[in-house]
Amino acid sequence: MSIIEKFKLTGKKAYVTGGARGIGKNIATALAEAGADVAIVDLDLDEAQKVATSIQEATGAQAIAVQADVTKANDVNHMIDQIVTQFGTIDIAFNNAGICINAPAEEMTLEQWKQVIDINLTGVFLTSQAAGKVMIKQGSGSIINTASMSAHIVNFPQPQVSYNASKAGVIQLSKSLAVEWAKKGVRVNTISPGYIGTELTLNSPDLQPLIKEWESVSPLGRIGKPEELQAIAVYLAGDASSFTTGSDFVIDGAFTSI
Ligand code: NAD
Repeated sequence: MSIIEKFKLTGKKAYVTGGARGIGKNIATALAEAGADVAIVDLDLDEAQKVATSIQEATGAQAIAVQADVTKANDVNHMIDQIVTQFGTIDIAFNNAGICINAPAEEMTLEQWKQVIDINLTGVFLTSQAAGKVMIKQGSGSIINTASMSAHIVNFPQPQVSYNASKAGVIQLSKSLAVEWAKKGVRVNTISPGYIGTELTLNSPDLQPLIKEWESVSPLGRIGKPEELQAIAVYLAGDASSFTTGSDFVIDGAFTSI
């Protein structure tokens, strides 16, 4: 198989959580452009449906919208059932839904702490586990979980104790699954993006001064664009990355190198 063929995802079945906007939407689009059918999973069904429709129109891939809260085991099991019923199987699981709450550690409430850990870490566990069961049965699959450069560094001065801890957890969770499932044909990797300009970050007036600050210290002099994560997603999803498992990919324009 040529290297070009190895990057193609023709016939593969994928889902992306948090796919209704931002990074997830861009990754779902890339997987479809590379040939996969994709399920856009999100809390926000209306927005997920819009993304699915536009992907289907633009790429000709089959794209469906599925509503699920990744913190709820019942929702996750139902989501996996819906996708398997529609597509027949799951080859690519992109567990990307996540949130951030900024609060000084000494003031963070238990509720705030749990909300971040539930979505960012427990949600990744539940979705990886449910997709992993399907993949183990078929003897193949690629799981990609979205961590963050905040798993590696502390973004001083932002107080993000729960976010940083949750994202470090995502990496070690993924490495553990990679080892447990290596001989079962299931690969598990993480991506760790640096600052990426999504609708959320770019449209928030509060974040504008911070974005200027991030750009001023970034070696590339700018934050990243969501489409700059598309190539690593397509690589990790398909046969091109057959020997890659248990790895983390920091895509941050050298921010964590300084
Ligand atoms: P975003 O807020 O634009 O999109 C996140 C999506 O996740 C939303 O559509 C939201 O509805 C969905 N979501 C939230 N909670 C959910 C739940 N419980 N169940 C299902 N869906 C849920 O965020 P983004 O900037 O695109 O970030 C996506 C991922 O990338 C997150 O895990 C985030 O931590 C990570 N990340 C983002 C950046 C960045 O700079 N934007 C950097 C590093 C890592």
